[in-house]
Amino acid sequence: MFVVKVGGAEGNGIDNVLIDLAPRRDYVLVHGGSNEVDRLAEALGRPIRWLTSPSGIVSRYTDRETMEVFTMALTGKLNTAIVARLQSLGAPAVGLSGTVERVNATLIQLLFDAGYVPVISPPGVTPQGELINADADRIAAQVAVAMEAQALVLLTNVPGLLREPSDPSTLIREVPRERLLTFMDFAYGRMKKKLIAAGEALEGGVPRVVIASSQQPDPVERALDGMGTVIS
Ligand code: ADP
Repeated sequence: MFVVKVGGAEGNGIDNVLIDLAPRRDYVLVHGGSNEVDRLAEALGRPIRWLTSPSGIVSRYTDRETMEVFTMALTGKLNTAIVARLQSLGAPAVGLSGTVERVNATLIQLLFDAGYVPVISPPGVTPQGELINADADRIAAQVAVAMEAQALVLLTNVPGLLREPSDPSTLIREVPRERLLTFMDFAYGRMKKKLIAAGEALEGGVPRVVIASSQQPDPVERALDGMGTVIS
């Protein structure tokens, strides 16, 4: 089995991914929703603040109010819409969020073994019941580790890791896992989180991570065929 994560930033082709996944039963889907969170925050008059760590990692500043918007957008709207769309395509999808990976690996496995297609979204939840803004790429990595997945596929709005982020023709096709840290230099902003997630998945025993585009038909099949950045 494999884990697919589809991004929520502008330009992602979520429907391409769902159509491609619909006939399959060998995956768990994780999704983000950054664009939807931004849109809803703006509509509600709660502007988003971004934080950049000293190492250049960008995160949404999430206070309690932002967390509410985050949950409304991710779980309330997007997760529901994705599950409904998969069901309309004939897939027995079940929506999950607020996962504490370690504990809920059992639940995900249970659903998967029973033939359901788990569709997982942030937020995460702490053992104390507090909702947290967990990054969807890293949730996907944790799920892939817990499920002993054969591959983690991170689908996004670019063809993969690019040498020059604004130039799609500069795709880096292969990254040997021992050189992941070196390749980190090419990644800015949120692409860094994908490489961190890739590292965590490999570290946890997932043999292959592919970062690829969701923007054309058959994105999952293409990624599994190695079209994108393959880290292994
Ligand atoms: P998603 O919501 O699909 O997960 P993100 O916005 O989180 O997407 O991450 C993808 C973005 O990362 C790209 O749209 C691009 O702007 C940015 N990025 C930064 N550095 C790179 C790079 N070296 N190669 C490709 N994309 C990069």
